[in-house]
Amino acid sequence: MTDRSYRYKASWRGRDRQAMLRRDGYQCQVCGWTGQDGKGKGLMRAHVIPAPYGPNTVENTVTLCPTHHAQFDAQRRRLERRPRA
Ligand SMILES: [Zn+2]
Repeated sequence: MTDRSYRYKASWRGRDRQAMLRRDGYQCQVCGWTGQDGKGKGLMRAHVIPAPYGPNTVENTVTLCPTHHAQFDAQRRRLERRPRA
């Protein structure tokens, strides 16, 4: 539903982003990049369990740099396309 997806986005606040970054040490959890300013600028969040299945909580997110965020998404798309045996 449109309304729900709107709320899903709107419910992610800057405070939650900060909480996630603090938990992950302001680093990409794959390569350890600390952002353009060394304090997390440019880092992205990835959902461990993707929307709309996973909750929009700090626990369901992981800090990634743009490169690994793109890889994370691409890998998941590959997994989803793979036919079941
Ligand atoms: Zn990275």
